[in-house]
Amino acid sequence: MSAKILDGKKISAEIRSSIKEEVEKLKAHGINPTLAVVLVGENPASKVYVGQKEKGCEEAGIISRKYTLPVDTTLEELLTLVKKLNEDKEVHGILVQFPLPAHLKESAVLSAMNPEKDVDGFHALNVGRLFSGLPCFESCTPKGVITLIERTGIHIEGKNAVIIGRSNIVGKPVAAMLLARNATVTITHSKTRNLPEVVKQADIVIAAIGKPRFVTADMIKEGAIVIDVGINRLPEGLVGDVDYEMVAQKASWITPVPGGVGPMTIAMLLQNTLKAATGKLGA
Ligand code: NDP
Repeated sequence: MSAKILDGKKISAEIRSSIKEEVEKLKAHGINPTLAVVLVGENPASKVYVGQKEKGCEEAGIISRKYTLPVDTTLEELLTLVKKLNEDKEVHGILVQFPLPAHLKESAVLSAMNPEKDVDGFHALNVGRLFSGLPCFESCTPKGVITLIERTGIHIEGKNAVIIGRSNIVGKPVAAMLLARNATVTITHSKTRNLPEVVKQADIVIAAIGKPRFVTADMIKEGAIVIDVGINRLPEGLVGDVDYEMVAQKASWITPVPGGVGPMTIAMLLQNTLKAATGKLGA
């Protein structure tokens, strides 16, 4: 079997174009969807991500307000800004780019945020609501993963899904979202025994490990859907957590890296911002 490619770039462009239409409709009703993006310090990767988010907003007609703070910003100063943005009626979504400099506690920043503006879906209330099956902001990368799986047209219900990686930003929320769609979900991690055998049971494999080409063809059941969240920078360029060339011979669908999950993250952020602007939490 040779896998069909789940083209995240193309799917993301389609979603962003429909978001743009929705934004225009809202603007006609006097609502200007607005995202506040807060960047603290000089982390080069964070600067790139914030730049991509700003560009995504601009293309979709969403106003992005950027707040750049110096690396020695105190927690009190950052919380004061977050609280100001919470109260600003013109701001619908707030995103504080992580990682923060080491002296700033990310959990304190998230707790200070109005959960109804938490378009990244990282506030404990949104996480709790996700795991309780209640409407919430679903965090962007996991939501992008689910959207890609849904685009295959294959029903998630009843499928065996195996997730490799249990981080709070990818593995765990993806598990909750798949469970909500009635998959039978297994979460694996570095202490899992017989990992290849567990992965081989999967109709859907999600790799979120951060180890280049970790998932090899011998771990994959013929016809599985394989979603590669990993981003690994090697001298030869970006590679995922999946041995793409070989796994593509066995899978039915596969995401490339780059051009798979990555582009979906921003589309989902814009979707969440639109939801925040319409007040349709989790709709
Ligand atoms: P973390 O480092 O937070 O988590 C990695 C997970 O992989 C952990 O649960 C760890 O297990 C598990 N793991 C590590 N080694 C093994 C192993 N040998 N066998 C089984 N499991 C293992 O990573 P993130 O979840 O933050 O990110 C994962 C990847 O996804 C990274 O490459 C990251 O760059 C990428 N990413 C991509 C995004 C996108 O937009 N495309 C967004 C976010 C992340 P344990 O818990 O036991 O340590």
